[in-house]
Amino acid sequence: TRQIIFKERPKGMPDDSTFSFEKTELSDLKDGQVLLKATWFSVDPYMRGKMSDAKSYTEPFEVGKPLNGGAIAVVEKSKSENFKEGDTVFGMLDWAEYQVADDKTLRKIDPEIAPPSYNLGILGMPGLTAYFGLMKIGEPKEGDTVVISGAAGAVGSVVGQIAKIQGCRVVGIAGSDEKIDMLTNDFGFDAGINYKATDDIKNDLQEACPNGIDVYFDNVGGEISDAVTMQLNDFARVSLCGQIALYNATSMPTGPRIQPILLTRRVKMQGFIISDFQSEFGEGIKKIASWLQQGKLKYEETVVEGFDNIPKAFLGLFSGENKGKMVVKV
Ligand code: NDP
Repeated sequence: TRQIIFKERPKGMPDDSTFSFEKTELSDLKDGQVLLKATWFSVDPYMRGKMSDAKSYTEPFEVGKPLNGGAIAVVEKSKSENFKEGDTVFGMLDWAEYQVADDKTLRKIDPEIAPPSYNLGILGMPGLTAYFGLMKIGEPKEGDTVVISGAAGAVGSVVGQIAKIQGCRVVGIAGSDEKIDMLTNDFGFDAGINYKATDDIKNDLQEACPNGIDVYFDNVGGEISDAVTMQLNDFARVSLCGQIALYNATSMPTGPRIQPILLTRRVKMQGFIISDFQSEFGEGIKKIASWLQQGKLKYEETVVEGFDNIPKAFLGLFSGENKGKMVVKV
């Protein structure tokens, strides 16, 4: 089978030299194992963090080993009592066309309930991140103004829709006019700001948020977040979800001193890692699935075709190639 090996740790933006395609022999199936053919791969910003060997909340990728992440596969052969040929499964799988996996690491998925790729997005980790990051840390109340950066991506597009369900005014910041159209026309956002097309984001925020900002869901960090912070209301909540604008930085960027603003306006700012909420995932998925079924949540994904294009799809996250969740179909 073919796999994608983590060839070297990138400095700054990853590129072709980060990845290499190699062939390997599959081992024979042992009891409790299955042979999988991958059908969908998720590419996610957190993978950039795992490419660095700095201490973090997950183990870094090992150089010389295949990259891995959330993926969907079909069982081709089974020596497991829990899975049969033809079953669709989710697992944290190697970036390989075929692989042998232990059944304990897999979860069966019903492709009749929702398209399998949804389990990598709205019905998976990004959907849960949106739900818990907003509800538990943002604590939105009816009438609040909620601002979301990275608003047109996998997490952000769901955050905004859930905030609308809570009765909030929702403003999204994203990187193209097409994305802003999608947010306001399809996803019900009240306003959007294309940060790449403005030279005065402060003024744009003031216009879009005449009553100030009560909740900020931060996916990107950097200068966008500096501008939002300046307009937070008293007792605002900031849910720190991601800092993608900084993931490829080679030195620690500095910005304005925000502590006096947080202090005088009594702002609560809290980071979270979605695994913090693991014990509540079942409840979260149920909630999201029911909103999806009722048509209260819409879902968008950008599908890149072909195993060879997994690295390209991953790199595309950093240039904003995706609307909604970026997935690769093989
Ligand atoms: P997205 O689908 O949002 O894809 C990334 C998007 O980020 C791109 O489409 C691009 O959109 C935007 N972006 C890229 N570079 C920059 C930049 N320099 N400045 C501003 N925007 C940029 O990814 P996800 O929804 O999967 O993840 C969103 C964020 O949430 C990430 O930071 C991720 O690390 C974080 N995350 C955190 C979790 C947690 O447990 N805390 C769990 C899951 C995700 P645009 O066109 O708008 O620039």
